[in-house]
Amino acid sequence: MKRIVKAAALVGVVALLASPLAAKKVKWKLAETWPSTLTPLASPPLKLAQYVKEMSDGKFIIKVEGKEKHKAPLGILDMVKGGQYQMGHSGSYYWKGKDINTVWFTTVPFGMTPSEQYAWFYYGNGMKYMKEVYDKFGVMNFPGGNTGNQMGGWFRKEINSVDDLKGLKMRIPGLAGEVLAKLGVNVTNIPAGELYTSLDRGTIDALEWVGPGMDIKMGFHKVAPYYYTGWHEPASEMQFLVNKKAYNKLPDNFKAILVTAMKAAAFDMYVENFAESVKAWDKMKKDFPNIKVKHFPKPVIGAMRKAATEVYESYAAKNPKFKEIYEDYTSYMKKARAWSQMMQGGYLNLDK
Ligand code: CA
Repeated sequence: MKRIVKAAALVGVVALLASPLAAKKVKWKLAETWPSTLTPLASPPLKLAQYVKEMSDGKFIIKVEGKEKHKAPLGILDMVKGGQYQMGHSGSYYWKGKDINTVWFTTVPFGMTPSEQYAWFYYGNGMKYMKEVYDKFGVMNFPGGNTGNQMGGWFRKEINSVDDLKGLKMRIPGLAGEVLAKLGVNVTNIPAGELYTSLDRGTIDALEWVGPGMDIKMGFHKVAPYYYTGWHEPASEMQFLVNKKAYNKLPDNFKAILVTAMKAAAFDMYVENFAESVKAWDKMKKDFPNIKVKHFPKPVIGAMRKAATEVYESYAAKNPKFKEIYEDYTSYMKKARAWSQMMQGGYLNLDK
């Protein structure tokens, strides 16, 4: 009898040592590109911190610091690499000046939709390439929440032809800006806080932001009536960055908790942003019935597509890794799109 009790006690001790309860307390810090109130972009880090704390029984704590605290919104990669922060939340395409291949993990003009891109990340080669591209920074990259297909932006005047793009002053960042510059657009970069006034005063003729859920807070619909559908950011995925050394020091169960919580928090943002846009668009179209939703005319889209291909091909000619990912991405997209058109396209066209 005694022996049985002893054995049971020993099993209990072993179980305790292996459980999260026995692990040392871990305290991490996460820096995000956004002000900590800018939901839904600021939501994934907060949800991640909450999930990690609950799943670890309070033993793994992540403190989230917004842009207002660290004052380096575009310094996130450097700060995670240097170890000042164990984690970051940002957008991979902000690091295109450090490595052009980081763009593949956010979105690209005329690229995949969120479901196509998630399939590429998790069941194609996306995560493999993420690892290859971020390894040299000593940082790990994980999907961190998707905005869904972004709107093409707010325009003061209608765009009827490629000629209407010439000399147009527009705020549009990233590769899409490079594409439009090829078509004669005067691409400018204006801080977020000055965008509304610039559009209102005609300092710029057009701008793109995200979609109704985030655009409504900026008020662009009050000063520019044409709301164009998107082509340039079809699936913008945010990113979680993790310092590799810090990750490797975590006990295995904390690693599993972190990876699972990042995935759950990322999914939440996609849904939250969709729901915000449902609500905002319903309100916007009621309050401002003059908003005209437009698709760019076919010849304009054709010219943009051609310019985008030229941009991709010029990077591919200079950068072998870009060429490799570009080929993998486009071949996956071709197969994925055939299914999307049949499944989603078919269904959405039932009512047309
Ligand atoms: Ca955007």
